[in-house]
Amino acid sequence: MGKTQRIAIVGAGLGGAAAAGLLQQAGFQVDVYEQAPEFSRLGAGIHVGPNVMKVFRRLGIEKPLEAMGSKPDFWFSRDGFTGDYLSRIPLGDFAKREYGAAYVTVHRGDMHLLQMDTLAPGSVHFDKRLETITDSGDDVHLTFADGTEARADIVIGADGINSRIREALLGVEAPNYSGWVAHRALIRGDQLAKYDLTFEDCIKWWTEDRHMMVYFTTGKRDEYYYVTGVPHPAWDFQEAFVDSSREEMFEAFQGYHPTVQALIECTEEVTKWPLRNRNPLPLWSRGRLVLLGDACHPMKPHMAQGAGMAIEDAAMLTRCLTETGLTDYRTAFALYEANRKDRATRVQAVSNANTFLRNQEDPAWVFGYDVYEQPLREGIAA
Ligand code: FAD
Repeated sequence: MGKTQRIAIVGAGLGGAAAAGLLQQAGFQVDVYEQAPEFSRLGAGIHVGPNVMKVFRRLGIEKPLEAMGSKPDFWFSRDGFTGDYLSRIPLGDFAKREYGAAYVTVHRGDMHLLQMDTLAPGSVHFDKRLETITDSGDDVHLTFADGTEARADIVIGADGINSRIREALLGVEAPNYSGWVAHRALIRGDQLAKYDLTFEDCIKWWTEDRHMMVYFTTGKRDEYYYVTGVPHPAWDFQEAFVDSSREEMFEAFQGYHPTVQALIECTEEVTKWPLRNRNPLPLWSRGRLVLLGDACHPMKPHMAQGAGMAIEDAAMLTRCLTETGLTDYRTAFALYEANRKDRATRVQAVSNANTFLRNQEDPAWVFGYDVYEQPLREGIAA
């Protein structure tokens, strides 16, 4: 009897967790190695488009996520100074009917927890920071910062924008700093009651060079969240993010609509994140190593689809490996890239340009996409 074939996934973020759940469900033996000692509920929300909910349906977490999150009827875009409406993109029942699933906004920690709960007990190994990775041709050898090691038949790099696996494939190269930062803050829903203002379920306030996206992260509307894009010439910090302040927010959004001023007034804690990206990579896999998500196509977050692309990648990679079997991983990786690259690159470009839904447009190409309905296009022979 042959030895059991194993898949190692490096990184248990939103993409890695999706890949692990889907591959395990398809019958593969999967181990996930995550550098963090544990996950905590960091202050951030996330949009989950119908394209992503269709993948979560397969994982059995569509309904719990829908029950937990907010389901806005519209994505509104408004002029940050005048409040004039620039677009009203129908979601709610329209999204279910036209795109085949709900549009949900939720706390990203709550969503990630649901994803992690789908994984086989004992298959996630925390505190495992990948240090070296060697593809011998016969298998892959991984070593971790704690001195332990592992072997696998193939390795999926789901280790984010600073991916070690991307480095193994393409060499060391820091991501590009875009010149923009994002501020992120959660606001208690009960704080909003004191204002004679309307706080819409999902709204993006725009002016020429900056914006503030705001939405509820729970169906109960007890947690409201904003995330910005603001020019910031250089990122001079070592950290992944730093504290910002209410004062900095007032300064950045001077002259903005009273609703935005009220949100800043309610801000207790706010953090500031550098927005980084990369140009499309010349390859997505080599030998037994393959990339997905931010390791492969990081982008500025302005379409709210970065995790969406990571999760769609996970679904397509699972489809391709199921189609070919693990032994023929080369064909699977070529098929995967052939079926993902155009879409991920297009989303990356539109997201970086920060134009999506600013004016009235049809988002069906993003939200209506069903990764399971795509006929598998032939990959280039590996
Ligand atoms: P990550 O989520 O970055 O996960 C990588 C994982 O790998 C981490 O857990 C990390 O600890 C681990 N790791 C890294 N290095 C190692 C190593 N050497 N060894 C072991 N483990 C390692 N996307 C959306 O779809 N909707 C949104 O609304 C949205 N809003 C956003 C707002 C902001 C401000 C930002 C910055 C991003 C936003 N995104 C959004 C994008 C989204 O967060 C990313 O695209 C997504 O997290 C990518 O998932 P990933 O699994 O590829 O990488």
